[in-house]
Amino acid sequence: MSKIDGATLMAQSLKEQGVEYMFGVVGFPVQPIAAAAQTAGIKYIGMRNEQTASYAAQAAGYLTGRPGACLTVSGPGVVHMLAGLANAQQNCWPMIGIGGASPTYQNGMGAFQEERQVQIASPFCKFAHAIEHVHRIPFYVELAVRQSIYGRPGASYLDIADDIIRGECDPATAPMPPRSAEPPRMQAMPEDVERALAALQSAEKPLVIVGKGMAWSRAEDEVRAFIERTKLPFLASPMGKGVLDDNHPLSVGAARSLALKEADVIFVMGARLNWIMHYGQSPRFNKKVRIIQLDISPEAIGNNVPTEVALVGDGKAIVGQINQALTSRQWFYPDGTAWRKAIAEAAEKNARQIQPQIDDNSAPTNYYRALKDIRAWAPEHAVIVGEGANTMDIGRTQLPNAKPRLRLDAGTYGTMGIGMGFVIAAAVVHPDRPVISVTGDSALGFSGMEIETVCRYNLGAKIVVLNNGGIGSGVDQYPADPFDNPPRALIYGARYDKMMEAFGGKGFYVEDPKDLRAALDAAMAHKGPALVNVKLHPNAGRKQQEFGWLTT
Ligand code: ADP
Ligand code: MG
Repeated sequence: MSKIDGATLMAQSLKEQGVEYMFGVVGFPVQPIAAAAQTAGIKYIGMRNEQTASYAAQAAGYLTGRPGACLTVSGPGVVHMLAGLANAQQNCWPMIGIGGASPTYQNGMGAFQEERQVQIASPFCKFAHAIEHVHRIPFYVELAVRQSIYGRPGASYLDIADDIIRGECDPATAPMPPRSAEPPRMQAMPEDVERALAALQSAEKPLVIVGKGMAWSRAEDEVRAFIERTKLPFLASPMGKGVLDDNHPLSVGAARSLALKEADVIFVMGARLNWIMHYGQSPRFNKKVRIIQLDISPEAIGNNVPTEVALVGDGKAIVGQINQALTSRQWFYPDGTAWRKAIAEAAEKNARQIQPQIDDNSAPTNYYRALKDIRAWAPEHAVIVGEGANTMDIGRTQLPNAKPRLRLDAGTYGTMGIGMGFVIAAAVVHPDRPVISVTGDSALGFSGMEIETVCRYNLGAKIVVLNNGGIGSGVDQYPADPFDNPPRALIYGARYDKMMEAFGGKGFYVEDPKDLRAALDAAMAHKGPALVNVKLHPNAGRKQQEFGWLTT
Protein backbone atom coordinates (compact mmCIF):
# COMPACT_ATOMS: atom_id res chain seq x y z
CA MET A 1 0.00 0.00 0.00
CA SER A 2 1.33 3.48 -0.83
CA LYS A 3 2.21 5.68 2.11
CA ILE A 4 2.43 9.43 2.47
CA ASP A 5 5.07 11.19 4.56
CA GLY A 6 4.51 13.98 7.06
CA ALA A 7 6.19 16.70 4.99
CA THR A 8 4.03 15.94 1.94
CA LEU A 9 0.89 15.75 4.04
CA MET A 10 1.72 19.12 5.62
CA ALA A 11 2.27 20.75 2.22
CA GLN A 12 -0.87 19.26 0.68
CA SER A 13 -2.96 20.25 3.71
CA LEU A 14 -1.74 23.84 3.56
CA LYS A 15 -2.49 24.04 -0.14
CA GLU A 16 -5.95 22.55 0.43
CA GLN A 17 -6.60 25.23 3.07
CA GLY A 18 -5.74 28.04 0.67
CA VAL A 19 -2.25 28.83 1.99
CA GLU A 20 -0.48 29.98 -1.16
CA TYR A 21 2.75 31.47 0.21
CA MET A 22 5.39 30.10 2.53
CA PHE A 23 8.32 32.19 3.78
CA GLY A 24 11.11 30.48 5.62
CA VAL A 25 14.66 29.49 6.29
CA VAL A 26 15.38 25.81 5.73
CA GLY A 27 17.53 23.50 7.81
CA PHE A 28 16.98 20.64 10.20
CA PRO A 29 14.30 19.25 10.31
CA VAL A 30 12.05 21.26 7.95
CA GLN A 31 13.90 21.04 4.66
CA PRO A 32 11.48 18.33 3.37
CA ILE A 33 8.45 20.55 4.11
CA ALA A 34 9.82 23.39 1.95
CA ALA A 35 10.51 20.97 -0.90
CA ALA A 36 7.07 19.37 -0.56
CA ALA A 37 5.44 22.82 -0.50
CA GLN A 38 7.01 23.63 -3.86
CA THR A 39 5.80 20.31 -5.25
CA ALA A 40 2.29 21.02 -3.91
CA GLY A 41 2.20 24.36 -5.76
CA ILE A 42 2.81 26.66 -2.80
CA LYS A 43 5.15 29.55 -3.59
CA TYR A 44 8.16 29.13 -1.30
CA ILE A 45 10.30 32.19 -0.60
CA GLY A 46 13.64 31.52 1.04
CA MET A 47 14.50 34.33 3.45
CA ARG A 48 17.65 35.23 5.39
CA ASN A 49 16.18 35.31 8.89
CA GLU A 50 13.07 33.72 10.41
CA GLN A 51 12.06 37.07 11.87
CA THR A 52 11.57 38.70 8.47
CA ALA A 53 9.98 35.50 7.18
CA SER A 54 7.41 35.76 9.97
CA TYR A 55 6.70 39.40 9.09
CA ALA A 56 6.30 38.46 5.44
CA ALA A 57 3.86 35.65 6.26
CA GLN A 58 1.45 37.97 8.10
CA ALA A 59 1.61 40.67 5.43
CA ALA A 60 0.70 38.02 2.85
CA GLY A 61 -2.15 37.04 5.16
CA TYR A 62 -3.48 40.57 5.46
CA LEU A 63 -3.17 41.22 1.73
CA THR A 64 -4.76 37.98 0.52
CA GLY A 65 -7.25 37.03 3.23
CA ARG A 66 -5.67 33.60 3.84
CA PRO A 67 -2.74 33.21 6.25
CA GLY A 68 0.79 33.16 4.91
CA ALA A 69 2.98 30.39 6.33
CA CYS A 70 6.32 30.89 8.05
CA LEU A 71 8.57 27.83 8.15
CA THR A 72 11.41 27.69 10.64
CA VAL A 73 13.95 25.26 11.99
CA SER A 74 13.71 24.06 15.58
CA GLY A 75 14.79 25.98 18.69
CA PRO A 76 16.38 29.29 17.68
CA GLY A 77 14.41 29.34 14.42
CA VAL A 78 11.18 29.28 16.38
CA VAL A 79 12.53 31.87 18.82
CA HIS A 80 13.25 34.22 15.91
CA MET A 81 9.72 33.67 14.61
CA LEU A 82 8.17 34.76 17.93
CA ALA A 83 8.67 38.37 16.87
CA GLY A 84 6.36 37.84 13.93
CA LEU A 85 3.75 35.89 15.87
CA ALA A 86 3.60 38.73 18.39
CA ASN A 87 3.35 41.35 15.67
CA ALA A 88 0.58 39.43 13.89
CA GLN A 89 -1.41 39.09 17.12
CA GLN A 90 -1.09 42.79 17.87
CA ASN A 91 -2.06 43.80 14.34
CA CYS A 92 -4.88 41.23 14.15
CA TRP A 93 -3.37 39.77 10.98
CA PRO A 94 -3.46 36.09 10.09
CA MET A 95 -0.37 33.91 9.80
CA ILE A 96 0.52 30.33 10.48
CA GLY A 97 3.90 29.55 12.02
CA ILE A 98 5.28 26.08 11.38
CA GLY A 99 8.20 25.20 13.60
CA GLY A 100 10.28 22.11 13.11
CA ALA A 101 11.14 20.36 16.37
CA SER A 102 13.71 17.88 17.59
CA PRO A 103 12.55 14.26 17.49
CA THR A 104 9.84 13.39 20.03
CA TYR A 105 11.81 10.34 21.21
CA GLN A 106 14.66 12.67 22.30
CA ASN A 107 12.44 14.98 24.37
CA GLY A 108 14.11 15.94 27.63
CA MET A 109 17.48 14.51 26.58
CA GLY A 110 19.07 17.80 25.51
CA ALA A 111 18.45 17.15 21.83
CA PHE A 112 19.85 19.41 19.11
CA GLN A 113 17.87 22.68 19.27
CA GLU A 114 15.40 21.20 21.75
CA GLU A 115 13.03 23.86 23.09
CA ARG A 116 9.57 24.05 24.67
CA GLN A 117 8.26 25.56 21.48
CA VAL A 118 4.49 25.32 21.92
CA GLN A 119 4.85 26.82 25.36
CA ILE A 120 6.84 29.83 24.16
CA ALA A 121 4.67 30.39 21.08
CA SER A 122 1.38 30.21 22.99
CA PRO A 123 1.33 33.73 24.51
CA PHE A 124 1.68 35.17 21.01
CA CYS A 125 -0.95 33.03 19.32
CA LYS A 126 -4.67 32.45 19.13
CA PHE A 127 -3.91 28.77 18.74
CA ALA A 128 -0.69 26.77 19.20
CA HIS A 129 -0.32 23.02 19.21
CA ALA A 130 2.12 20.19 18.56
CA ILE A 131 1.21 17.59 15.97
CA GLU A 132 1.52 14.21 17.65
CA HIS A 133 0.75 11.81 14.78
CA VAL A 134 1.39 11.99 11.05
CA HIS A 135 -2.23 11.21 10.19
CA ARG A 136 -3.50 14.18 12.24
CA ILE A 137 -1.63 16.78 10.13
CA PRO A 138 -4.62 17.70 7.90
CA PHE A 139 -6.82 18.10 10.97
CA TYR A 140 -4.39 20.48 12.66
CA VAL A 141 -3.73 22.52 9.52
CA GLU A 142 -7.43 23.14 8.95
CA LEU A 143 -7.85 24.10 12.61
CA ALA A 144 -4.85 26.44 12.59
CA VAL A 145 -5.91 28.16 9.37
CA ARG A 146 -9.50 28.59 10.56
CA GLN A 147 -8.39 29.99 13.92
CA SER A 148 -6.16 32.53 12.18
CA ILE A 149 -8.94 34.06 10.06
CA TYR A 150 -12.23 33.52 11.96
CA GLY A 151 -13.27 36.14 14.48
CA ARG A 152 -10.48 38.60 15.19
CA PRO A 153 -7.63 37.41 12.96
CA GLY A 154 -4.27 36.50 14.44
CA ALA A 155 -1.44 33.99 14.63
CA SER A 156 -1.53 30.19 14.75
CA TYR A 157 1.44 27.96 15.47
CA LEU A 158 2.01 24.30 14.63
CA ASP A 159 4.92 22.35 16.02
CA ILE A 160 6.11 19.41 13.94
CA ALA A 161 8.87 17.14 15.11
CA ASP A 162 11.47 15.57 12.88
CA ASP A 163 10.00 12.06 13.27
CA ILE A 164 6.53 13.34 12.27
CA ILE A 165 7.96 15.17 9.23
CA ARG A 166 9.79 12.04 8.08
CA GLY A 167 7.19 9.59 9.39
CA GLU A 168 4.60 8.01 7.14
CA CYS A 169 0.99 6.96 7.28
CA ASP A 170 -1.64 5.34 5.13
CA PRO A 171 -3.43 8.25 3.37
CA ALA A 172 -6.77 6.57 4.16
CA THR A 173 -6.16 7.27 7.85
CA ALA A 174 -5.53 10.99 7.18
CA PRO A 175 -8.71 12.41 5.64
CA MET A 176 -8.34 15.92 4.26
CA PRO A 177 -10.97 18.28 5.75
CA PRO A 178 -12.51 20.54 3.09
CA ARG A 179 -11.06 24.02 2.82
CA SER A 180 -12.42 26.16 5.62
CA ALA A 181 -14.80 28.66 4.06
CA GLU A 182 -14.18 32.40 4.06
CA PRO A 183 -14.92 33.80 7.53
CA PRO A 184 -18.66 34.06 8.12
CA ARG A 185 -19.89 37.64 8.32
CA MET A 186 -21.96 38.46 11.40
CA GLN A 187 -24.46 41.31 11.55
CA ALA A 188 -25.53 43.52 14.43
CA MET A 189 -28.97 43.72 16.05
CA PRO A 190 -31.24 46.00 13.97
CA GLU A 191 -32.16 48.05 17.07
CA ASP A 192 -28.46 48.75 17.69
CA VAL A 193 -28.09 49.94 14.11
CA GLU A 194 -30.97 52.35 14.72
CA ARG A 195 -29.42 53.52 18.00
CA ALA A 196 -26.11 54.13 16.26
CA LEU A 197 -27.79 56.27 13.61
CA ALA A 198 -29.78 58.16 16.25
CA ALA A 199 -26.56 58.89 18.15
CA LEU A 200 -24.86 60.19 15.00
CA GLN A 201 -27.89 62.29 14.20
CA SER A 202 -27.75 63.88 17.65
CA ALA A 203 -24.11 64.91 17.23
CA GLU A 204 -22.94 68.45 16.80
CA LYS A 205 -19.38 67.47 15.96
CA PRO A 206 -19.46 63.93 14.61
CA LEU A 207 -16.44 61.93 13.46
CA VAL A 208 -15.92 58.47 11.99
CA ILE A 209 -12.62 56.66 12.62
CA VAL A 210 -11.84 54.01 10.00
CA GLY A 211 -9.33 51.36 11.10
CA LYS A 212 -7.52 48.49 9.49
CA GLY A 213 -10.23 46.07 10.61
CA MET A 214 -12.34 47.61 7.84
CA ALA A 215 -9.52 47.05 5.35
CA TRP A 216 -9.26 43.42 6.46
CA SER A 217 -13.04 43.06 6.19
CA ARG A 218 -12.89 44.44 2.64
CA ALA A 219 -15.58 46.93 3.59
CA GLU A 220 -14.37 49.73 1.31
CA ASP A 221 -17.49 49.89 -0.89
CA GLU A 222 -19.84 49.96 2.11
CA VAL A 223 -17.74 52.52 4.02
CA ARG A 224 -17.53 54.81 1.00
CA ALA A 225 -21.29 54.57 0.46
CA PHE A 226 -21.87 55.31 4.16
CA ILE A 227 -19.59 58.34 4.27
CA GLU A 228 -20.88 59.78 1.03
CA ARG A 229 -24.50 59.24 2.05
CA THR A 230 -24.12 60.73 5.55
CA LYS A 231 -21.41 63.28 4.64
CA LEU A 232 -19.74 62.56 7.97
CA PRO A 233 -16.13 63.67 8.40
CA PHE A 234 -13.78 60.70 8.77
CA LEU A 235 -10.27 59.98 9.99
CA ALA A 236 -8.34 56.97 8.73
CA SER A 237 -6.04 55.12 11.13
CA PRO A 238 -2.47 54.59 9.87
CA MET A 239 -3.32 51.37 8.02
CA GLY A 240 -6.99 52.20 7.62
CA LYS A 241 -5.64 54.72 5.10
CA GLY A 242 -7.02 53.97 1.66
CA VAL A 243 -10.27 52.27 2.73
CA LEU A 244 -11.44 55.69 1.60
CA ASP A 245 -9.24 57.91 -0.52
CA ASP A 246 -7.01 60.07 1.72
CA ASN A 247 -7.78 62.93 -0.65
CA HIS A 248 -11.51 62.52 -0.17
CA PRO A 249 -13.05 65.92 0.69
CA LEU A 250 -14.56 64.44 3.87
CA SER A 251 -11.18 63.23 5.20
CA VAL A 252 -9.99 65.14 8.26
CA GLY A 253 -6.49 63.62 8.09
CA ALA A 254 -4.90 67.06 7.86
CA ALA A 255 -6.75 68.22 10.98
CA ARG A 256 -6.36 65.03 13.02
CA SER A 257 -5.57 66.53 16.41
CA LEU A 258 -8.46 68.99 16.33
CA ALA A 259 -10.94 66.43 15.03
CA LEU A 260 -10.09 63.97 17.81
CA LYS A 261 -10.01 66.60 20.53
CA GLU A 262 -13.36 68.19 19.80
CA ALA A 263 -15.61 65.53 18.31
CA ASP A 264 -18.64 64.86 20.51
CA VAL A 265 -19.78 61.58 18.90
CA ILE A 266 -17.23 59.25 17.35
CA PHE A 267 -18.09 56.15 15.36
CA VAL A 268 -15.03 53.90 15.71
CA MET A 269 -15.10 51.17 13.08
CA GLY A 270 -12.49 48.40 12.95
CA ALA A 271 -10.02 50.35 15.09
CA ARG A 272 -8.98 50.24 18.71
CA LEU A 273 -8.77 53.20 21.05
CA ASN A 274 -5.24 52.18 22.01
CA TRP A 275 -1.99 54.22 22.07
CA ILE A 276 -2.32 55.06 18.37
CA MET A 277 -5.67 56.67 19.18
CA HIS A 278 -4.48 58.09 22.51
CA TYR A 279 -6.79 55.69 24.40
CA GLY A 280 -9.78 57.83 23.40
CA GLN A 281 -9.11 59.91 26.49
CA SER A 282 -8.52 63.52 27.52
CA PRO A 283 -6.53 65.64 26.67
CA ARG A 284 -6.44 64.19 23.16
CA PHE A 285 -10.18 63.48 23.14
CA ASN A 286 -13.18 65.35 24.42
CA LYS A 287 -13.87 64.22 28.01
CA LYS A 288 -17.55 63.81 27.20
CA VAL A 289 -17.11 62.04 23.88
CA ARG A 290 -19.79 59.44 23.10
CA ILE A 291 -18.55 56.33 21.34
CA ILE A 292 -20.23 54.09 18.80
CA GLN A 293 -18.00 51.09 18.32
CA LEU A 294 -18.01 48.50 15.55
CA ASP A 295 -15.73 45.54 16.13
CA ILE A 296 -15.69 41.83 15.40
CA SER A 297 -14.44 41.14 18.89
CA PRO A 298 -17.02 41.60 21.68
CA GLU A 299 -14.23 41.73 24.27
CA ALA A 300 -12.93 44.88 22.59
CA ILE A 301 -16.11 46.82 23.27
CA GLY A 302 -15.75 49.55 25.88
CA ASN A 303 -11.99 49.22 26.21
CA ASN A 304 -10.59 52.48 27.69
CA VAL A 305 -13.78 54.44 26.98
CA PRO A 306 -17.35 53.30 27.68
CA THR A 307 -19.26 52.48 24.50
CA GLU A 308 -22.71 53.98 24.02
CA VAL A 309 -23.68 51.76 21.11
CA ALA A 310 -21.90 48.48 20.35
CA LEU A 311 -22.08 46.93 16.91
CA VAL A 312 -20.42 43.55 17.18
CA GLY A 313 -19.73 41.69 13.99
CA ASP A 314 -18.15 42.02 10.58
CA GLY A 315 -17.38 45.48 9.28
CA LYS A 316 -18.57 44.95 5.73
CA ALA A 317 -21.78 43.26 6.85
CA ILE A 318 -22.67 45.85 9.48
CA VAL A 319 -21.91 48.98 7.46
CA GLY A 320 -23.99 47.37 4.72
CA GLN A 321 -26.80 47.02 7.27
CA ILE A 322 -26.42 50.65 8.28
CA ASN A 323 -26.59 51.77 4.66
CA GLN A 324 -29.75 49.76 4.28
CA ALA A 325 -31.24 51.41 7.39
CA LEU A 326 -30.31 54.82 5.97
CA THR A 327 -32.61 54.34 2.98
CA SER A 328 -35.59 55.07 5.24
CA ARG A 329 -34.04 58.21 6.74
CA GLN A 330 -33.64 61.66 5.24
CA TRP A 331 -30.83 62.69 7.52
CA PHE A 332 -27.27 63.55 6.56
CA TYR A 333 -24.74 65.73 8.37
CA PRO A 334 -25.37 69.20 6.93
CA ASP A 335 -22.95 71.41 5.01
CA GLY A 336 -21.64 74.67 6.39
CA THR A 337 -21.58 73.77 10.08
CA ALA A 338 -19.11 75.42 12.47
CA TRP A 339 -17.52 71.97 12.88
CA ARG A 340 -16.78 71.62 9.19
CA LYS A 341 -15.32 75.14 9.17
CA ALA A 342 -13.11 74.47 12.19
CA ILE A 343 -11.76 71.30 10.55
CA ALA A 344 -11.06 73.09 7.27
CA GLU A 345 -9.27 75.91 9.09
CA ALA A 346 -7.11 73.53 11.12
CA ALA A 347 -6.19 71.63 7.95
CA GLU A 348 -5.18 74.86 6.22
CA LYS A 349 -3.14 75.98 9.20
CA ASN A 350 -1.27 72.67 9.28
CA ALA A 351 -0.58 72.86 5.55
CA ARG A 352 0.77 76.41 5.92
CA GLN A 353 3.06 75.31 8.74
CA ILE A 354 4.83 72.60 6.75
CA GLN A 355 4.97 74.43 3.43
CA PRO A 356 8.37 76.08 4.10
CA GLN A 357 9.93 72.65 4.66
CA ILE A 358 8.35 71.31 1.47
CA ASP A 359 9.71 74.30 -0.43
CA ASP A 360 13.20 74.14 1.08
CA ASN A 361 15.56 73.02 -1.68
CA SER A 362 18.76 73.15 0.33
CA ALA A 363 21.07 70.14 0.50
CA PRO A 364 21.15 67.84 2.41
CA THR A 365 17.38 67.72 2.30
CA ASN A 366 14.60 67.31 4.92
CA TYR A 367 11.77 64.79 5.22
CA TYR A 368 9.04 66.99 3.76
CA ARG A 369 11.04 68.02 0.71
CA ALA A 370 12.08 64.44 -0.02
CA LEU A 371 8.50 63.20 0.45
CA LYS A 372 7.22 65.86 -1.97
CA ASP A 373 9.06 64.15 -4.82
CA ILE A 374 8.22 60.65 -3.59
CA ARG A 375 4.54 61.59 -3.49
CA ALA A 376 4.56 62.96 -7.01
CA TRP A 377 6.41 59.86 -8.21
CA ALA A 378 4.54 57.02 -6.45
CA PRO A 379 1.81 55.55 -8.67
CA GLU A 380 -1.66 55.33 -7.15
CA HIS A 381 -1.74 51.52 -7.33
CA ALA A 382 1.61 51.07 -5.56
CA VAL A 383 1.91 49.32 -2.22
CA ILE A 384 3.65 51.68 0.17
CA VAL A 385 5.58 50.31 3.12
CA GLY A 386 6.57 52.88 5.74
CA GLU A 387 9.09 52.29 8.46
CA GLY A 388 11.32 54.34 10.75
CA ALA A 389 10.31 56.86 13.40
CA ASN A 390 10.18 60.19 11.56
CA THR A 391 10.14 58.59 8.13
CA MET A 392 7.01 56.62 8.97
CA ASP A 393 5.19 59.34 10.92
CA ILE A 394 5.80 62.08 8.38
CA GLY A 395 5.38 59.67 5.46
CA ARG A 396 1.96 58.76 6.81
CA THR A 397 0.83 62.37 6.50
CA GLN A 398 2.59 63.17 3.23
CA LEU A 399 1.98 60.03 1.15
CA PRO A 400 -1.72 59.58 0.42
CA ASN A 401 -3.38 56.22 -0.22
CA ALA A 402 -6.30 56.14 -2.60
CA LYS A 403 -7.07 52.43 -2.38
CA PRO A 404 -7.35 49.96 0.53
CA ARG A 405 -4.64 47.58 1.78
CA LEU A 406 -1.87 49.44 -0.02
CA ARG A 407 -0.18 50.76 3.10
CA LEU A 408 1.85 48.59 5.47
CA ASP A 409 3.80 49.94 8.41
CA ALA A 410 5.10 49.27 11.91
CA GLY A 411 1.49 48.99 13.07
CA THR A 412 -0.04 48.42 16.44
CA TYR A 413 3.12 46.91 17.91
CA GLY A 414 5.32 49.74 16.57
CA THR A 415 7.77 47.16 15.28
CA MET A 416 10.95 48.32 13.59
CA GLY A 417 12.30 45.68 11.24
CA ILE A 418 9.06 44.74 9.51
CA GLY A 419 9.90 46.62 6.32
CA MET A 420 11.82 44.16 4.19
CA GLY A 421 9.51 41.27 5.12
CA PHE A 422 6.47 43.36 4.17
CA VAL A 423 8.14 44.51 0.95
CA ILE A 424 8.91 40.93 -0.08
CA ALA A 425 5.40 39.70 0.75
CA ALA A 426 3.76 42.60 -1.11
CA ALA A 427 5.94 42.09 -4.18
CA VAL A 428 5.23 38.36 -4.23
CA VAL A 429 1.48 38.76 -3.69
CA HIS A 430 1.15 41.74 -6.08
CA PRO A 431 3.63 41.12 -8.90
CA ASP A 432 1.64 43.58 -11.03
CA ARG A 433 2.02 46.52 -8.60
CA PRO A 434 5.06 48.61 -7.76
CA VAL A 435 6.09 48.07 -4.14
CA ILE A 436 7.65 51.13 -2.60
CA SER A 437 9.34 51.12 0.76
CA VAL A 438 10.01 54.49 2.36
CA THR A 439 12.28 53.68 5.25
CA GLY A 440 14.69 55.26 7.68
CA ASP A 441 18.30 54.11 7.69
CA SER A 442 17.95 52.62 11.16
CA ALA A 443 14.77 50.70 10.26
CA LEU A 444 16.36 49.29 7.12
CA GLY A 445 19.23 47.92 9.18
CA PHE A 446 17.05 45.49 11.12
CA SER A 447 16.59 43.28 8.09
CA GLY A 448 18.92 44.78 5.50
CA MET A 449 20.32 41.42 4.44
CA GLU A 450 16.95 40.67 2.84
CA ILE A 451 18.19 42.94 0.04
CA GLU A 452 19.81 39.73 -1.17
CA THR A 453 16.36 38.08 -1.16
CA VAL A 454 14.71 40.81 -3.25
CA CYS A 455 17.58 40.53 -5.72
CA ARG A 456 17.52 36.72 -5.81
CA TYR A 457 13.83 36.74 -6.76
CA ASN A 458 14.26 39.86 -8.88
CA LEU A 459 11.31 41.53 -7.16
CA GLY A 460 10.24 44.95 -8.40
CA ALA A 461 10.80 46.54 -4.99
CA LYS A 462 11.81 50.20 -4.88
CA ILE A 463 13.41 51.02 -1.55
CA VAL A 464 13.84 54.66 -0.67
CA VAL A 465 16.07 55.27 2.35
CA LEU A 466 15.71 58.61 4.10
CA ASN A 467 19.18 58.52 5.52
CA ASN A 468 20.01 60.82 8.40
CA GLY A 469 22.68 58.62 9.97
CA GLY A 470 20.83 57.89 13.15
CA ILE A 471 18.01 56.28 15.08
CA GLY A 472 15.47 59.09 15.17
CA SER A 473 17.65 62.08 14.45
CA GLY A 474 21.24 62.04 13.23
CA VAL A 475 24.41 63.46 14.76
CA ASP A 476 25.81 66.93 14.01
CA GLN A 477 29.35 66.40 15.07
CA TYR A 478 30.84 62.97 15.68
CA PRO A 479 33.23 62.80 18.66
CA ALA A 480 36.81 61.66 18.01
CA ASP A 481 36.28 58.41 19.90
CA PRO A 482 33.36 56.45 18.40
CA PHE A 483 32.61 55.02 21.84
CA ASP A 484 31.64 58.57 22.82
CA ASN A 485 29.00 58.64 20.06
CA PRO A 486 25.46 59.29 21.21
CA PRO A 487 23.64 55.93 21.34
CA ARG A 488 21.47 56.89 18.35
CA ALA A 489 24.45 57.37 16.03
CA LEU A 490 24.85 55.44 12.80
CA ILE A 491 27.26 56.11 9.93
CA TYR A 492 26.24 59.35 8.23
CA GLY A 493 26.14 58.93 4.48
CA ALA A 494 26.32 55.12 4.67
CA ARG A 495 26.04 53.74 1.14
CA TYR A 496 23.06 51.38 1.38
CA ASP A 497 22.70 51.82 -2.38
CA LYS A 498 25.94 49.87 -2.77
CA MET A 499 24.45 46.99 -0.79
CA MET A 500 21.75 46.82 -3.42
CA GLU A 501 24.37 46.93 -6.17
CA ALA A 502 26.38 44.20 -4.46
CA PHE A 503 23.57 41.72 -5.05
CA GLY A 504 22.75 42.83 -8.58
CA GLY A 505 20.07 45.48 -8.06
CA LYS A 506 20.28 49.17 -8.97
CA GLY A 507 21.50 51.72 -6.46
CA PHE A 508 21.24 55.52 -6.45
CA TYR A 509 22.77 58.00 -4.05
CA VAL A 510 21.13 61.41 -3.80
CA GLU A 511 22.90 64.21 -1.97
CA ASP A 512 20.93 67.14 -3.35
CA PRO A 513 17.12 67.14 -3.62
CA LYS A 514 17.36 68.54 -7.15
CA ASP A 515 18.57 65.06 -8.21
CA LEU A 516 15.94 63.07 -6.34
CA ARG A 517 13.15 62.88 -8.90
CA ALA A 518 15.47 61.70 -11.68
CA ALA A 519 16.84 58.95 -9.41
CA LEU A 520 13.32 57.85 -8.46
CA ASP A 521 12.29 57.73 -12.11
CA ALA A 522 15.34 55.69 -13.03
CA ALA A 523 14.63 53.32 -10.13
CA MET A 524 11.06 52.83 -11.35
CA ALA A 525 12.18 52.34 -14.95
CA HIS A 526 14.53 49.57 -13.82
CA LYS A 527 12.70 46.23 -13.99
CA GLY A 528 14.17 44.66 -10.86
CA PRO A 529 14.91 45.91 -7.34
CA ALA A 530 16.34 49.36 -6.79
CA LEU A 531 17.40 51.38 -3.77
CA VAL A 532 17.46 55.17 -3.67
CA ASN A 533 19.61 56.35 -0.80
CA VAL A 534 18.67 59.93 0.08
CA LYS A 535 21.05 61.86 2.30
CA LEU A 536 19.04 63.84 4.84
CA HIS A 537 20.17 66.68 7.05
CA PRO A 538 21.01 65.10 10.44
CA ASN A 539 18.71 67.58 12.19
CA ALA A 540 15.76 67.22 9.83
CA GLY A 541 12.64 66.75 11.93
CA ARG A 542 8.91 66.94 12.29
CA LYS A 543 6.94 70.10 12.41
CA GLN A 544 6.25 71.25 15.96
CA GLN A 545 3.50 69.08 17.46
CA GLU A 546 0.96 70.25 20.00
CA PHE A 547 1.51 66.98 21.88
CA GLY A 548 4.87 65.20 22.07
CA TRP A 549 5.37 61.75 20.63
CA LEU A 550 3.63 59.00 22.61
CA THR A 551 1.73 61.49 24.76
CA THR A 552 -1.65 60.24 25.82
P1 ADP B 1 -5.96 50.48 13.61
O1 ADP B 1 -4.54 50.22 13.96
O2 ADP B 1 -6.21 50.67 12.17
O3 ADP B 1 -6.60 51.50 14.48
P2 ADP B 1 -6.58 48.15 15.13
O4 ADP B 1 -5.66 47.05 14.76
O5 ADP B 1 -6.30 48.90 16.39
O6 ADP B 1 -6.74 49.12 13.89
O7 ADP B 1 -8.03 47.59 15.26
C1 ADP B 1 -8.58 46.76 14.29
C2 ADP B 1 -9.83 46.21 14.89
O8 ADP B 1 -10.59 45.62 13.84
C3 ADP B 1 -9.60 45.13 15.93
O9 ADP B 1 -10.17 45.50 17.16
C4 ADP B 1 -10.28 43.90 15.33
O10 ADP B 1 -10.96 43.14 16.30
C5 ADP B 1 -11.26 44.51 14.36
N1 ADP B 1 -11.63 43.64 13.24
C6 ADP B 1 -10.94 42.64 12.69
N2 ADP B 1 -11.62 42.06 11.69
C7 ADP B 1 -12.79 42.71 11.61
C8 ADP B 1 -13.94 42.58 10.79
N3 ADP B 1 -14.01 41.66 9.83
N4 ADP B 1 -14.96 43.42 11.00
C9 ADP B 1 -14.90 44.36 11.97
N5 ADP B 1 -13.86 44.54 12.77
C10 ADP B 1 -12.81 43.72 12.60
MG1 MG C 1 17.63 57.57 10.64
